[in-house]
Amino acid sequence: PSSFTSPQLAVVGGGIGGLAAALAAARAGRQVTLVERAAEFGEIGAGLQLAPNASLALEELGVLAEVRQTAVVPPRLVMMDALNGDRITELDLHSEAFRERFRHPYLVTHRTDLHAALLTACRTHPAITLHTGCTVVRVEQDGSGVRLHFAETTEVLEADAMVAADGLRSVLRQALVGDGDPVCSRYVAFRGALPTDRMTGRMSEIAASEAVMVWAGPRMHLVQYPVRRGELYNQVAVFESDHYRPDSDDWGTEAELEERFAGTCPAVRAALPLVSRDRRWPLFDRAPVDTWVYGRIALLGDAAHPMLQYLAQGACQALEDAVALGRALVESADAADAFASYAERRQARASLIQTTARSFGELCHLEGMGAAVRNALLATRSSHDFDDISWVWTPAPDTVSAA
Ligand code: FAD
Repeated sequence: PSSFTSPQLAVVGGGIGGLAAALAAARAGRQVTLVERAAEFGEIGAGLQLAPNASLALEELGVLAEVRQTAVVPPRLVMMDALNGDRITELDLHSEAFRERFRHPYLVTHRTDLHAALLTACRTHPAITLHTGCTVVRVEQDGSGVRLHFAETTEVLEADAMVAADGLRSVLRQALVGDGDPVCSRYVAFRGALPTDRMTGRMSEIAASEAVMVWAGPRMHLVQYPVRRGELYNQVAVFESDHYRPDSDDWGTEAELEERFAGTCPAVRAALPLVSRDRRWPLFDRAPVDTWVYGRIALLGDAAHPMLQYLAQGACQALEDAVALGRALVESADAADAFASYAERRQARASLIQTTARSFGELCHLEGMGAAVRNALLATRSSHDFDDISWVWTPAPDTVSAA
């Protein structure tokens, strides 16, 4: 950047969490500067599930209508047995019971589409300045403000306060919390979205249903759903590697993917060649911590509460963070007070979702008798029974204004 002006709030990281936080703070009346290390803003080419708590947050941020233009509203969330192809259970996302309970839709979207909607809203907001190619390496704070230092320039960004939304490997969290490296789950994901017209046979029937399909198997699963008005079909294949070694990338390979999915039912085997192989994603999380705020510095999104993806809540929780932050900034003129109130509202809920995501992964990946018992128990559930998941899909009332 040629030169920074001094904003009230600096946001580090231009992912879904950082953009949403910048938008929420600007809508709360603050001048915001957001810095992103990448040369260009962007997201990866895969899908994202947005439960009703996320669509409510998007409404509060003023971008729900934009996101809905391309998002798909899937009719059902279906859990299938990946080995025998039987239906285990499903939730009816178009039912009156769903609508009455949550009042906001369950959406599935392409990450790029959600990111672009947030980016456009930030770009067009007069109180937000965006900078790319700025890697924060160090932050100092005192009683009056924060100073951000960058890898690319000797220039310093001064602000009253700062939000660190720099993701799973947050350097700012590392400096403040110091809880070591993220925890590797030994699971790996292969994922991506392909044109739906490339799906054939049974695959095209499943894709046409527009349902979110979760094929659960022993230490592995496959998730499928349409995105971008149904033009693209997203698939995520996940499995636990038998060859995990720390400090090595030679585990969870494509060959192992083939091997681990070889014994699955015909529908899953038919899907496998159409699972994106461009890149493998080892899956990490961290144990919850109760220190998200250090005076004038607050952690948000994956920097605060990185979680495994089994409840599909990482980005949803980042959006909830942003809305809660915006509300706290409206209520307290002092940034440190607002940050303390933001953390107070968000920590317990996000932490519980973080730990529940681990358990949900275990439930999904059961083998043998465990899987048989799970299937038998879930078989009796009604597709209109949301009691188990309702707390996850409903934000705490004091974090939203329109609930
Ligand atoms: P990030 O997206 O990691 O953004 C961090 C940003 O900060 C990046 O742009 C990075 O370049 C920038 N940055 C990093 N360091 C610096 C620095 N020092 N200086 C400046 N900038 C920096 N969530 C859901 O809600 N629903 C789902 O269906 C879902 N599915 C998932 C499936 C998989 C396989 C995985 C792995 C995750 C899934 N998630 C899902 C989780 C979700 O992707 C994340 O929780 C979410 O993207 C986190 O957003 P974030 O903005 O906090 O972090």
